[in-house]
Amino acid sequence: MSRLPSRERLAADRGQPEVEIRRSAKRRKTISARWEGDMVVLLAPAGMTTSVARDYLRRLLPKLLAERSARREDPRRTDAYLEERAAHVARSYLDDRVKPVSIGWVTNQNTRWGSTTPATGKVRISHHLWSAPEYVVDYVIHHELCHLVEASHNARFRKLEALFPHAGQAKAFLEGMVFERNRLEDTNADPA
Ligand SMILES: [Zn+2]
Repeated sequence: MSRLPSRERLAADRGQPEVEIRRSAKRRKTISARWEGDMVVLLAPAGMTTSVARDYLRRLLPKLLAERSARREDPRRTDAYLEERAAHVARSYLDDRVKPVSIGWVTNQNTRWGSTTPATGKVRISHHLWSAPEYVVDYVIHHELCHLVEASHNARFRKLEALFPHAGQAKAFLEGMVFERNRLEDTNADPA
């Protein structure tokens, strides 16, 4: 059996980005893709053939391209940004114990800043926070991550929530947003 190259450049299809497959023996099954400049880097297990990698790429490319165009407009409007923030918040304030199964922006959430389904581990953040400062987004994410540990706003929840250091400022900012836009019916600025 011939050994597959650890790095393999694929010729770019018309209008498509250049792709490099990087194979690593450390990867067992997982495959992932990311941008490096204008090139897509596909991180793959050592044994993955070029044609299987191409199949993955065909499936991953639409999302990658959408992410890139959103990022060019505003890097924060991507789910990848929320994933980064969630990892940062968990590491900084929750002993890295909490990780959502998924976290993403939603545009159909007008009365709550964030929402969580503890049973599935999915977190949704309202696009009304696109223009909010980062610590405010972090505050809402922190609140939602606490819901992955404790579903209701009980004493244990409040204890976890209090680990976020800039809550007072963040709440004031959210209250200001509500006041200014008069957009939310519930004037309680707590995330849901
Ligand atoms: Zn809540």
